[in-house]
Amino acid sequence: MSHQVELFINGQWRAGAEGLTLPIENPATGETIGTVARATQPDLDAALAAAEAGFATWREIAPFERAKIMRRAAGLLRERVGDIARQLTQEQGKPIGEAKGELLSAADIIEFFAEEGKRAYGRLIPARAPNIYQMVIPTPVGPVAAFTPWNFPVNQVVRKVSAALASGCSVIVKAPEETPASPAALIRAFADAGVPDGVLGLVYGVPAEISSYLIPHPTIRKVSFTGSTPVGKQLSAMAGLHMKRATMELGGHAPALVFNDADLAAAVRNLAGGKFRNAGQVCIAPTRFLVQRGVYDQFVEAFVAAAEKVRVGNGLDPETTMGPLVNAKRFDAIETIVADAVAQGAELKTGGKRAAVGGHFYAPTVLCNVPLSAKIMHEEPFGPVAIINPFDTEDEAIAEANRLPYGLAAYAYTTSQATSHRLAARIESGMLTINHAGLALPEVPFGGVKDSGYGSEGGPEALDAYLQPRFVTRLDA
Ligand code: NAD
Repeated sequence: MSHQVELFINGQWRAGAEGLTLPIENPATGETIGTVARATQPDLDAALAAAEAGFATWREIAPFERAKIMRRAAGLLRERVGDIARQLTQEQGKPIGEAKGELLSAADIIEFFAEEGKRAYGRLIPARAPNIYQMVIPTPVGPVAAFTPWNFPVNQVVRKVSAALASGCSVIVKAPEETPASPAALIRAFADAGVPDGVLGLVYGVPAEISSYLIPHPTIRKVSFTGSTPVGKQLSAMAGLHMKRATMELGGHAPALVFNDADLAAAVRNLAGGKFRNAGQVCIAPTRFLVQRGVYDQFVEAFVAAAEKVRVGNGLDPETTMGPLVNAKRFDAIETIVADAVAQGAELKTGGKRAAVGGHFYAPTVLCNVPLSAKIMHEEPFGPVAIINPFDTEDEAIAEANRLPYGLAAYAYTTSQATSHRLAARIESGMLTINHAGLALPEVPFGGVKDSGYGSEGGPEALDAYLQPRFVTRLDA
């Protein structure tokens, strides 16, 4: 078994205090390929004490010096991309090219925040009387507890860690037990680059045990979670009860609106790419395709052809364009939600079955004319399933796009600028991309509205979550 992942506490890689471990499975083969250490309370106490001390050290280091260390970490990540990508694919399943892309984009994210930390300006407010100075000083909020999921094992960690470090905060990361090796490699790159002991901690274990201990703990001043809406609601309630700041990046059910005047080839190419990337296990994946009646049949035909071209297999095979679902639980969830849609009267155009033997491979699936009574019209499928339904008027499409409590990403294809403006004003989502696949770059905001959460994990806005605007006023004699 090649993957033996440890906890990282106070600058040391170590087993859990009680010697407990959890198994790691390769979703492409179903084999156990290693173990990850499971933290219990003594480990969490050690991580909290280290984060407290680490915060005292790190907050005193100038943003200019922090940025140098962070840039070194980005460089190390790029040097190590081959080995880490392999580990990521073995644990998560995504094609090796996608794993490499995730790591290279993680390096870009580190560099973006390293630079942005230097620009965390305060301000001087004009006073009402002479000799008074009114200053707003951005101050790091304190030690952070960050909880991240398995779909982008590195990317979800790096967004939180980079913004926190650039702001001067220490962080304890509870990374995903399903895919622990690549986030550990990311933390190792930061440590090797010179992040002082205690500033970064890494734990794994039983998620609810860890969150219910860390979030209420007085050391933790800020919580950041990426995962499902039900869990996000529990954790944000806990954070609220203990008066902790929180950022919540939760589920989505993204509408993709395709109008009669759209560039259909671009729409199919980009939307199919977005749908089947990472086997649909992406919070911003397009899910409800709303296609105007005039191009509906043409769109469906082209989209089904694109779905059938996807090569499902082991992500380590360079020919593979879509890997397995991350575990048996996800496979069963997709199988159940697709069966329900078909039972409710949806037309299954392709897929709807296991795609290959050995792992949790589910075929790229297209459902058409799906009725509102189907569960999939309300619940996030989080798998390689597209729902394609027709619409007649723009108002009807917008009403359907806004029907659900989710509001993370939205997509639209139209060559009309007037339609684009109206969509920008009326679609209820944190992000909208029109005529191209333009989301999730380091320098742009990333986050949702409504049940998809709050706060941003990208752009300069992401730093605000880790900075308290302290006000100091002084009268000079
Ligand atoms: P889940 O709800 O069991 O877990 C989702 C994530 O939350 C996992 O990483 C898990 O470790 C973590 N988690 C669960 N309970 C927790 C707790 N009490 N404290 C702290 N962390 C906790 O679902 P799952 O089967 O692992 O994933 C499927 C669902 O999760 C999807 O339907 C999707 O909505 C959501 N998800 C979203 C994202 C995202 O990028 N927003 C990523 C992964 C999963």
